[in-house]
Amino acid sequence: MTAPRLEIVAIGDELVHGSVVDTNSAFIARRLEELGCAVTRVSIVGDAEQDGLALLREAGARADLIVITGGLGPTEDDRTRHVAAGAAGVELAFDARCWDWIEAWFAARGRKVGDDNRRQALLPQGAVPLANDWGTAPGFALSIGRAQAFALPGVPAEMVEMLEHRVVPRVREQFAARLRPIAKRALVALGPSEAALGQRIADLMADSAAVKVGITPQFGLLTVRVVADGRDDAEAAARADAVAAIARERLGADLLYEGEGDPAARLVALAAARGSTLATAESCTGGLIARLLTDVAGASRVFLGGFVPYANERKTGELGVPPETIAAHGAVSEAVAAAMARGALERTGASLALATTGIAGPDGGSAGKPVGTVCFGLALRGATGAVVVRAWTRAITAVSREFVRQRAALEAIAAALRELAGPPG
Ligand code: ATP
Ligand code: MG
Repeated sequence: MTAPRLEIVAIGDELVHGSVVDTNSAFIARRLEELGCAVTRVSIVGDAEQDGLALLREAGARADLIVITGGLGPTEDDRTRHVAAGAAGVELAFDARCWDWIEAWFAARGRKVGDDNRRQALLPQGAVPLANDWGTAPGFALSIGRAQAFALPGVPAEMVEMLEHRVVPRVREQFAARLRPIAKRALVALGPSEAALGQRIADLMADSAAVKVGITPQFGLLTVRVVADGRDDAEAAARADAVAAIARERLGADLLYEGEGDPAARLVALAAARGSTLATAESCTGGLIARLLTDVAGASRVFLGGFVPYANERKTGELGVPPETIAAHGAVSEAVAAAMARGALERTGASLALATTGIAGPDGGSAGKPVGTVCFGLALRGATGAVVVRAWTRAITAVSREFVRQRAALEAIAAALRELAGPPG
């Protein structure tokens, strides 16, 4: 049996005009794919009835399953129930049960239900109402063509609850024999280019491979995603693990960590587990590393603070970087990066300090130090109290100022992660 073919339809003028980004479809796709559905199409359509009608008729002829979001509200522009009824070839009828739910929802909040809300109790004939405990608009389940359709509200928080509690159980039951649950693994690498990494795992990424493998790049960070299905959760997990093991071997020392979650969150968690504290001294990243670390809830357990000494005098004044070092090597140099890291470590008492100094561009590059040249420093307080300092340089592809800064911040965070995780193996 093949996986049920799922089409997702997001309805709303604000979505087609781009004033609101359709995040609902992505969420629905991820959740129902996890369950074992095959997402074959995602469509966005405006509020105009004719457009929605045509789309739902087509979807009803192609798909096994349709999930619709948006347009269930009480206003004139909320036409999803009309459109769904039209596509199913039935009339709308007042549903007393829906009306009771709506009245109760308002009563519970001490509000009087408006006449407009009566529209929300109209359902296509034959539709099964889906209670909405998280808002006013009930959803419904309805056959459209050969497909089982579910209509959910557009408000993301309501959609998420309705999907989990009203749709997922019904899909599980109705398509039990055809669902192959999936398991996902993520391996995160930093270092090689996407193309180079792609070559190393080209065989795993073949279109014909039974277990799907892909690479998602973000500011130089490469996430290798492994997706396997199986007859049950255990089989899916075993197949995913088998391919992840091959990918792990191919990534070798470029593997930064496994699993979802961003590098800064990983670093905060790892530092907390190790009892380490962190400090930063950022010139070209201008506080971005500190920002990324403090974006993580609970960062105060490990992050002591950061310096942003942009001018040379501040590098000397705040961190004690010797003026001679700057004069001899330039502000963008490994010697200065090392001195910055040492200064941050000593001045904060942290056990690990990160420093960046570089040329973010678009101007300021030279033949010897082109835009994208970034020097890093990492200072570490050993168990005996002795301070060890490393410095290195990376030539970051100067895609944009933003890219250089983001990539540099990642490089520093990755270095700290590798340092605290200990040598590979
Ligand atoms: P309501 O009862 O609140 O009117 P509704 O089903 O009519 O619900 P809409 O009016 O279409 O939903 O949208 C309600 C809110 O949800 C709006 O703020 C809209 O921007 C947002 N929204 C709608 N569809 C999506 C979507 N696909 N992705 C993200 N946000 C969405
Ligand atoms: Mg609405």
